[in-house]
Amino acid sequence: MSAESKIRRAAEILSASSHAIALTGAGISTPSGIPDFRTPQSGLWEHQDPMQVASIQAFRRDPRVFYQWIRPLAETVARALPNPAHVALAELERLGLVKAVCTQNIDGLHQKAGSVHVLELHGSMRQAKCTRCGLCVSTAELWASAMERGEIPHCRQCQAVVKPDLVLYGEDLSQEVFWAAMAETKSCDVMLVVGSSLEVSPAADLPGMARRHGAQIVIVNREPTGMDSAAAIVIREDVAIALPKIVISVKQFKGMAY
Ligand code: ZN
Repeated sequence: MSAESKIRRAAEILSASSHAIALTGAGISTPSGIPDFRTPQSGLWEHQDPMQVASIQAFRRDPRVFYQWIRPLAETVARALPNPAHVALAELERLGLVKAVCTQNIDGLHQKAGSVHVLELHGSMRQAKCTRCGLCVSTAELWASAMERGEIPHCRQCQAVVKPDLVLYGEDLSQEVFWAAMAETKSCDVMLVVGSSLEVSPAADLPGMARRHGAQIVIVNREPTGMDSAAAIVIREDVAIALPKIVISVKQFKGMAY
């Protein structure tokens, strides 16, 4: 099948869906300049062992080392802008086709692009929480104070150390978010996988679960994934190019002007 007919077929499947959801991974944010903080090949780990800095044990042992490591990532995330792939998914939600975006990313770019129903499996960089009293603060507030001076942020209420709302190594996912993602997975009729090689659980298990519940899988990813053989369509193109093409094609199927 030609690249163009794959795009058209993917658009046709989405247009005919009644409850499509998206599952996104680091690959949707790399065109926005964000490295994947949980993938060893991302370049973030060249000089450090992730277990030594990005695990909950390491955070508890020495939050200073953790904050030194996360500061450049936090700055990159704060500056990053959504790319055409994020915008395309938000557009598919506005069109009433994509009902939820489950993401492994922590960068908040789906929300910046306009997606509303976003389930962040690995937490997010937007918020941080006090490790003692649980007070939530926006990270923007933290960057503007302690972080910019290279200090560890402390809770203004009880002075304990504050931790960004990310799921670190050794930490469980938020049960609430995970159950919501499972519910979406079981009720969807199409799962659009974007920019994930489906290597990190539990996100890696969701397409298989969706398939067992009768959903069609559409994959847009540069690299092969373990679910390619079970997918209705696999598009091995740059996500920032393929997704906008799918949206244009969906609008043609729906008879909309664009
Ligand atoms: Zn506190």
